[in-house]
Amino acid sequence: MSKPITILFGTRPEAIKLAPIILELKKQNIPYRVIHTGQHLELAEQILSAFDITPDHRLKLMTEAQQPLDLLQKLLSTLPDLIAPDHTGLLIVQGDTTSALAGALTAHHQKVKVAHLEAGLRSYDRMQPFPEESNRTLISHLADLHFAPTAGARHNLLAENIDPDTIHVTGNSVVDALHFILDQAFVTPGEIRQKYDAGEGKLILLTTHRRENFGKPLEEIFGAIRDIAEEHPEYTILLPSHPNPNVQQAVKALRQIPNIHVIDPLTYEEFVPLMAAADLILTDSGGIQEEAPALGTPVFVLRNKTERPELLDSGAGKLIGTNKARIIEEVTSHFRRHQANERLEVFGDGHTAERVVRVLKAEVLGIKITQP
Ligand code: UDP
Repeated sequence: MSKPITILFGTRPEAIKLAPIILELKKQNIPYRVIHTGQHLELAEQILSAFDITPDHRLKLMTEAQQPLDLLQKLLSTLPDLIAPDHTGLLIVQGDTTSALAGALTAHHQKVKVAHLEAGLRSYDRMQPFPEESNRTLISHLADLHFAPTAGARHNLLAENIDPDTIHVTGNSVVDALHFILDQAFVTPGEIRQKYDAGEGKLILLTTHRRENFGKPLEEIFGAIRDIAEEHPEYTILLPSHPNPNVQQAVKALRQIPNIHVIDPLTYEEFVPLMAAADLILTDSGGIQEEAPALGTPVFVLRNKTERPELLDSGAGKLIGTNKARIIEEVTSHFRRHQANERLEVFGDGHTAERVVRVLKAEVLGIKITQP
């Protein structure tokens, strides 16, 4: 029997996007092991329970207000004992986190092959998102296999001289994860609206946690939300607030406004129907930019740059930045002319995990699969 494939993650979005791959490996009886670095301990655990996944190793390296560089150092001293040719034939990492970078770097030094899920996203600005843009670029140059979600991501990798035979366009597994949750029908969008007293008025979902938005940009965003809520008491604004202390501090300004509900982060089983029920999503998240088009909910991105230009090209979303006046103008004019979006397959069709596992299987068995 071949050595197990190792799947490593640390945060909620990584767990969401790797879960469909783990479930597919399990379905096909391919040996695997799971390492959870604990970068987002509770948030990622929720996702594991939604997909019924139990990690083989749970690391406890996080301390309060820890900086990415501290975590990186700890991971680099811990992971070599878990990632070596004796344990595993291949390591899969996802996206652009500190955990993913530490995993890829460790595996490369230990002469273990690295596969990168969601490869090739680029904003071409190392400070936006920070430090994720550098993390994912570095991972591309450590990885042996690249699972690009779109043709555009493949094109970005080719422009960096990545070997074309190692790049596979698979779609983004986040759409597989969405379908998995929607198929279970945990709560209906109607029940979600009722739970938060959304009535017949517009329901706006807001999430924000990007490091580069801490400080002034967050003040501008929350200032805009406050004005919109006061001007339109018929709107309901829901803010599942990220546990990051910078977000917690800034969010205090919104707590007294009756039609703004600041709530704890939601489980994925509840967050997916909430995204579907919302009339508009405002976010600086990466994953939500990919999920909203698949659910037919318009999404405005609270950033100045996105590494997901497919969202803008499809018309399913808009980049609106963090200026207070602009946010107010975009939201109010959107509702003046609003028509519902269709569900669009911008980032995937829900069959990414099958494509990824087909390539992984061939890799483990030493068969070469290439894409044009
Ligand atoms: N999400 C969730 N509950 C919440 C907020 C977000 O399950 O209360 C999910 C969301 O659907 C998406 C992922 O978490 O799949 C996004 O995570 P985040 O915005 O933290 O990270 P990013 O995608 O920006 O890396």
